[in-house]
Amino acid sequence: MPTWILNTEFKFDAAHFIEGYNGKCGRMHGHTYKVHIKAKSHKLNPSQYLDSPDMVCDFKELKWAASDSKKGGLDHSVLNDELPVATTAERIAEYIHKETKRRIPDGISLVVTVWETETSWVEYTDDDV
Ligand SMILES: [Zn+2]
Repeated sequence: MPTWILNTEFKFDAAHFIEGYNGKCGRMHGHTYKVHIKAKSHKLNPSQYLDSPDMVCDFKELKWAASDSKKGGLDHSVLNDELPVATTAERIAEYIHKETKRRIPDGISLVVTVWETETSWVEYTDDDV
């Protein structure tokens, strides 16, 4: 089966604390989060910027979270104000996955990886791994 796999990476800066955490992560602090998104599709689609079906999706649509929180992204936000769930790396990855899915055509499977530090990261997908 023909398969296209897009990969993109971006970073954003944000503050957060983990509510109920018994330790220093329970206090407000910041991270430069790194995000990798893998988008896999067996067909190509048009996009907001290209009428012909020649893209999996637009890279811009995968990178929405990198934009300023005043413009709908997560950069320079307080994640506790943006996410309806706890702000663990696991939940941030799940949230970015869900919000990215809303912005791209159907039939694209995503794997979202979020690095909280250079040496600690989590992957999230709703595909069978
Ligand atoms: Zn933290």
